Amino acid sequence: EKNRWHPILGAGWRDEEPATIFDKLMSGDIPATVVKQDDKIFAFKDINPAAPAHVLVIPKDRSGLTRLGKATEEHTEILGRLLVAAAEISKDKELGFGDGARIVINDGPDGGQEVPHLHVHVLGGRSMQWPPG
Ligand code: 5GP
Repeated sequence: EKNRWHPILGAGWRDEEPATIFDKLMSGDIPATVVKQDDKIFAFKDINPAAPAHVLVIPKDRSGLTRLGKATEEHTEILGRLLVAAAEISKDKELGFGDGARIVINDGPDGGQEVPHLHVHVLGGRSMQWPPG
């Protein structure tokens, strides 16, 4: 039983780190516009969109993945699931995506990460610039 995400105590129950606002979005305590979910992943619209289309994809079970930099071999499957979900979302015209998207993972303080629960940003609906800011 210790190997699953806990709907009330949140991700912190599993990996000793505090739960985050994303647990409250998943439990429904804080409303979210859910775009897609399955047994492993949860995707919702970003509350402060940085592009016309901006969706976050997160693992339901954080499993130690407060940030991408914590990833190990055991996370291979969930990392794949997150990217496949991001790919599907990035093609959804109803969400405002065009032809292509910017898929971003902010990792840690220097990466600009604010919420310590791994999340994949899927940004689209406009042309992106390179390099990013
Ligand atoms: P980070 O900076 O950690 O890579 O990205 C965190 C993202 O979570 C930000 O883009 C921010 O707008 C989004 N976010 C933070 N709090 C909430 C919330 O309560 N609801 C939703 N939908 N998004 C949130």
